[in-house]
Amino acid sequence: MYPFYADIKIEGNKLLFFEKNENFTRIKIDGRKIESDELFIYPGFRDCHGHIYSLGKIKSTIDFTSAKSFEECIEIIKKSKKTESNWITGRGWNNENWLNNDLPTREGLDKLFPNVPVYLIRVDGHCALANSKALEIAKIDSDSDNPDGGEILRFPDGSPNGILLDNAMNLVSKKIPSQSHSNKIAFIKEGMNQLAKVGIIETHDMDVHPELVKIFIGLDSKKDLKQYIKTYITAQNEEYQKYSLKRYKGNSYEIAGIKLYADGALGSKGAALEEAYSDDSDNFGIEILDYQQLLEKSILALKNDMDIAIHCIGDKANENVAKVYQKLSKYRYEREFRIEHAQILNSELPKKFSDFNITASIQPVHCISDAFMAEKRLGNRIEHSYLWKTLLENNVNILPGSDYPIESHNPLIGISAFVNRIPFESDKPWQHSEAIELEKALSLYYSPISINNLRNNFIVMDKNIFKTDKLDIDKIKNKFTLYNGFVTYNELL
Ligand SMILES: [Zn+2]
Repeated sequence: MYPFYADIKIEGNKLLFFEKNENFTRIKIDGRKIESDELFIYPGFRDCHGHIYSLGKIKSTIDFTSAKSFEECIEIIKKSKKTESNWITGRGWNNENWLNNDLPTREGLDKLFPNVPVYLIRVDGHCALANSKALEIAKIDSDSDNPDGGEILRFPDGSPNGILLDNAMNLVSKKIPSQSHSNKIAFIKEGMNQLAKVGIIETHDMDVHPELVKIFIGLDSKKDLKQYIKTYITAQNEEYQKYSLKRYKGNSYEIAGIKLYADGALGSKGAALEEAYSDDSDNFGIEILDYQQLLEKSILALKNDMDIAIHCIGDKANENVAKVYQKLSKYRYEREFRIEHAQILNSELPKKFSDFNITASIQPVHCISDAFMAEKRLGNRIEHSYLWKTLLENNVNILPGSDYPIESHNPLIGISAFVNRIPFESDKPWQHSEAIELEKALSLYYSPISINNLRNNFIVMDKNIFKTDKLDIDKIKNKFTLYNGFVTYNELL
């Protein structure tokens, strides 16, 4: 859809009047007025893979995304005064951005924090560093076995070195005291505000703890949701069963399905690969759930009328899950079969995705942030990785997302990644044959809710994207968001 001008009238946050205009956009809000030929109406965006609660919480945890070394992470902790009930927790460190790419160990933390437990999650959410105090509380020592689907990394003497991968993370994270009810509500509201700010009117919230569902349903009944939210509930250990959660549809809130993890992340070498890592010759990654477990959990989900969304990064994980969906393919038009990330495929998988009606939930920004790290990990397999054009040419249904807060939730950064495919540390396109055209990228990002009811769901941005240099797409700013007839974000007046 081409951006256009309109006459808009708002009173008390509610839309009263909307009509296309030829020459400029005019917005009246409670008697105030703005008129401009540089304000363009667009459909609202969707983000089909994110974490609302974590997005809202990020401001209250220590953020290491800017750190260029482990020493800098330590400095950031020292400067912050944030502790969660006497635990020091934080997230966002990325050793791939450091001069020394080795994973850090607990030693650096132990000297400074001998008595306070510290737990720091890597940027991908699939790896964490714990200090000795945190390991002691979680009863992890030299004698501890690796849990299924996880790994406790060790020093040569067999003692844990502080790095925990995938399911091993739970051993510590479950010991961190949980947030108060009012904090939980505040984080969800903050997350929604952040999304509204960048023009998102629909989002798919992934791996949502069953305890948060009640809060969402409560907010929905008070018309306090700022997006249409489709939830995929935590199901790795059948959590949704313990809370008797079923498929559900409210006004702006829906329990659509369950979320499973087939493997870990590429950065922390947890992605499950058919052949060993190119930079680690006897490491094949972690199958958090194997084929049989995935099949059983998927069958249970179908019995509960749930759609299925499974995290798959490595080619082995994608192959396992494609096999599960193939086996269950008689349900493929009743239930949605999703693969989250679908990053490393093989030459046959795109066609299988198409044949078995498997939706690929893609985060274009992961590609431009991981490109060079992925080349190191994958060698030649890079040719079958981060496929967009190929999936589209195979008629695979693609859902766009960001995996916020792991990557920015701003859809324009995602659209720019789709179109330009230029890694963050580079100024040249990377595997540009897999980039996609602007029209297509936009049509993926526009929420169908908005396309079907534009009058009540639109955003106002400060440039016409079709008249903007492709390299400047990510600089376009959203100024105003309307969802379901109500203003959810406004910086115009
Ligand atoms: Zn995610």
